[in-house]
Amino acid sequence: MSDKKNKIKEIKLADRVLTLISKNGKFRAGVIKSSNISKKAQSDHNLPPMPAALLSRLLTGASLMAAFLKGEERIILEANGSQSIKKIFAEAIQVGEVRGFVDFELKDDSGTNITDFLGDGLFKVSKILYDKAEPIIGIVKLKKGDISTDLAYYFQKSEQIPTAVLLDVSLNNNGLIEHSGGLILQAMPGANDKDIVDINDKLKNSPEITELINNEMTIEEITRILIPFDYEILKNYRVDFFCRCSKEKFISKLLTLGIDEIKSMKKNNHNELICIYCNKHYYLEDRDFDRLINDLKASEN
Ligand SMILES: [Zn+2]
Repeated sequence: MSDKKNKIKEIKLADRVLTLISKNGKFRAGVIKSSNISKKAQSDHNLPPMPAALLSRLLTGASLMAAFLKGEERIILEANGSQSIKKIFAEAIQVGEVRGFVDFELKDDSGTNITDFLGDGLFKVSKILYDKAEPIIGIVKLKKGDISTDLAYYFQKSEQIPTAVLLDVSLNNNGLIEHSGGLILQAMPGANDKDIVDINDKLKNSPEITELINNEMTIEEITRILIPFDYEILKNYRVDFFCRCSKEKFISKLLTLGIDEIKSMKKNNHNELICIYCNKHYYLEDRDFDRLINDLKASEN
């Protein structure tokens, strides 16, 4: 294929999120195709199928929630479990970046269903907004441990907003993620109980989002199939698995350590720095250590 054709294909298959409002103003929704995000998370973190699938759902949910924010406002979702998965973390910025990780220790009896892996635990949502000095935090119990139900339960319990959440991920026979996507649909203050029941009934018959993505549908086509009312599109933008870490940022964090600690790191060749969010490895060289030591000496004077 020519470079131009490759470029067109890449743009067509890129992950995107779209937000909309119903023409009658009673509902708003976000729809996302997140296959590339989920695949990158699985490969960068070397994840087995179930931890990868659950992280995928959390990354998908966080990206959808961030789409309702503005500028560089952020959403952090955390699921803290008690079974073989201890923690899943996803952080999304409205500009189209999401990153995350999963802490797990699989055992022979870890289970086979997606709901076996977290067990009892807590689901935490943090919103970092421009007009608030502190993050807005909501914590609920894990309702089912499949992330979709937990996120819907959070909206109902913590924000008192009736919300339908569909987070979908498909894996191939080798346990690798093929596709992922999602939908969050929320009632606005003008919607009554009957409106909400009607919409929920219609959503029950909607096709699997990963099936639509598998058919190479665009986000606009997927949205047209999923959304059971007339709507107006508010946003439509590209999203990627992206981490803002850099070697320089790590080095400036090391300046908070004492000079003796830096010297001992250098002596013991503790030169590897790993980003927990994206699993990127950075290596400190002798001149990096020397620079750190010099900077620390200068600040002591
Ligand atoms: Zn990183």
